[in-house]
Amino acid sequence: MRPEEDEGYFNSYAHFDIHHEMLSDKVRTESYRDAILRNSPLLHGMRVLDLGCGTGILSMFSAKAGAYVTGVDMSDVIYQAMDIVKENQLEDVITLKRGRIEDIEIEDKFDFIVSEWMGYFLLFEGMLDSVIYARDNYLIEGGFLLPNRCSMYITGMEDLEAYNKYIAFWDDVYGFKMSCMRSAVIKEATTEVVKEECIITSEDKIMNFDLMKITSNDTEFTSSFFLIAKRDGQLTAFVGYFDIYFELPHPVSFSTGPLSTPTHWKQTIFYLPEPRNVELGETIQGVISVRRKRREVRSLDVMIKFEDKKYYYMVE
Ligand code: SAH
Repeated sequence: MRPEEDEGYFNSYAHFDIHHEMLSDKVRTESYRDAILRNSPLLHGMRVLDLGCGTGILSMFSAKAGAYVTGVDMSDVIYQAMDIVKENQLEDVITLKRGRIEDIEIEDKFDFIVSEWMGYFLLFEGMLDSVIYARDNYLIEGGFLLPNRCSMYITGMEDLEAYNKYIAFWDDVYGFKMSCMRSAVIKEATTEVVKEECIITSEDKIMNFDLMKITSNDTEFTSSFFLIAKRDGQLTAFVGYFDIYFELPHPVSFSTGPLSTPTHWKQTIFYLPEPRNVELGETIQGVISVRRKRREVRSLDVMIKFEDKKYYYMVE
């Protein structure tokens, strides 16, 4: 993508509210902190690249672990990060550079690359491409990526209240039928926290990424899934989420799934046009395919094939 086409994306990171949201997400931020600080013997004296440093939080954790850090961000938030680093008297060990990682020149290579690049349903935002670029150009052989593994999952939910509120709503609006809206509404995957008790099936892993090996092509994939109904009920939507792993001598991981503490990524909901009855022990079998949107490559096209029907969704 040409840099000028991507201005909106970086502008969205220039405002403080998005950083407030990320920093307030304790599951996210404390997992990075724990991964870095619990492994500080490994990071001590090492060179760390913080790709997409934002406010500089991961740079500062790394500096606390004894590393020499270079933080890079294309967004104007980097000017705040510069003040933040000064405020914490870390300017001797943290160097910040404004720019797109793909466009700037850094003299050094790094022992570690730390980055918080994950978007909704993991791949929305497409920042993983930049992590792959940084890995291929700036990581020494034998270096580490933090995190270094992630998995994507799908599960099934029953939430008739949400279904009625968002989907069936259009069948009777002040006495008028607006059912034609349903297909447009269903197409847009939504981001919500799913209540634990709404999970009606087992989950299935649809993808596992070894970030040390992955290429950009691997982020488009098709996977079959098998879910077992945990009770009788009505399946109203499929639910997508991801888990993140820091596989280090002291491993750390976290989940964005509905059975874990909610994060700012919530879960990604793919509604069915109609609720589908399920019976305890029944296998629900389908295929999911994830592609980038052709025009807006930071958005995703998702197709779920279920009982010989194909449902198309957008994550944007
Ligand atoms: N590391 C911070 C911010 C994470 S958000 C934290 O954990 O709180 C991701 C950041 O990456 C954003 O600030 C965005 O501007 C930046 N970013 C995304 N792609 C980039 C690229 N290709 N080059 C430089 N910065 C990038």
